[in-house]
Amino acid sequence: MEVLFMGLREKLELLGVSRRDFLKFCTAVSATLALPPAMAPKVAEALEDDNRPPVIWLEFQSCSGDSESLLRSGRPKAGDLVLDVISLDYAEVLMAAAGHYAEQAKHDSMEKNKGKYVLIVEGSIPVDEDGIYCCIAGDTAVNHLKKAAAGAAMVIAVGNCASFGGIPAAYPNPTGAKGVADLVRGVPVVNLPGCPMNCDNLTALIVHYLIFGTLPALDNQLRPKFAHGKRIHDNCERRGHFDAGQYVEKWGDEAHRQGWCLYKMGCKGPQTWHNCPTLRWNDGLSWPVMAGHGCVGCSEPGFIDTMSPFYRRLPEVPGFGVESSATSIGLKLVGVATAFFAVHGVVSVIRNRGAVKKVEEEYYEKEEK
Ligand code: SF4
Repeated sequence: MEVLFMGLREKLELLGVSRRDFLKFCTAVSATLALPPAMAPKVAEALEDDNRPPVIWLEFQSCSGDSESLLRSGRPKAGDLVLDVISLDYAEVLMAAAGHYAEQAKHDSMEKNKGKYVLIVEGSIPVDEDGIYCCIAGDTAVNHLKKAAAGAAMVIAVGNCASFGGIPAAYPNPTGAKGVADLVRGVPVVNLPGCPMNCDNLTALIVHYLIFGTLPALDNQLRPKFAHGKRIHDNCERRGHFDAGQYVEKWGDEAHRQGWCLYKMGCKGPQTWHNCPTLRWNDGLSWPVMAGHGCVGCSEPGFIDTMSPFYRRLPEVPGFGVESSATSIGLKLVGVATAFFAVHGVVSVIRNRGAVKKVEEEYYEKEEK
């Protein structure tokens, strides 16, 4: 049988994914969505049904990290699974067609599936100088986005750049980069930030859409609560050390080797909302904090201006103890972080004018007294 006409089941067998692995994957997706394990067969059913939503994947000011994340996901072979579960009608990085043929494929799919296709956007959108900083096929990114969003059932912004502007929007933001939600009106927008997004969350989001026909609950940053409903800090395996006041003081010191808390090395886990510690990366093998590097806060608005310098801790927060709940710690940090960011906002404005280092040093010095 030709691969093109095979059902998902046959395709997965061809890819070496056993029925058992497939069901394990469905259970993992249910868990990611915080659904009861009894929903796993429903997930399998939704995936096996021949109801692939057409997807248009646009890429603008981006490093292609989210496309890479999609391609390298493998739990089990989730990249293949997603490509088989959805009908990826346009994706510059992945499609064989180029030039006019690629544009024609996009146009045809948008016409044929008006109101039904899912639009995935990777990368930020520049709006300064009428958007000329990012042009594809003779038109600006902002026009491509608006045209494609007008006929979409929903728009998923993947990665921090498409969600909040990301690295291109960092000071001084020379192109006037913006996130999707700043530009699209009248169509539901979901943000899946991260640098890059975790493909398992994208799979779970699409599965949720296939099963329920609706979007999952979102937070006030338009992020799905199943993926961004808890702080990194809430589920971090180093949390016991944080509560016990056991911190890494220097890269490579004994505390670092023992896996103690990275807060003093700049970890932004206490104010970052993401399921990294439970979902992890590389097939659930590890994640940055587990590998010994502090969280850099890549799923938050304002990343990187509000999260740098990466290797400097926020000012000392008094009163943390074993009895402190994550929420009370978070609230204390929000207060401190607000003060820090107020100063840091000023710092961002004068960055590159030679004074930034001095201001930061004075600030830390004052806080440490
Ligand atoms: S500060 Fe960072 S390393 Fe320490 S417990 Fe929180 S998230 Fe984990």
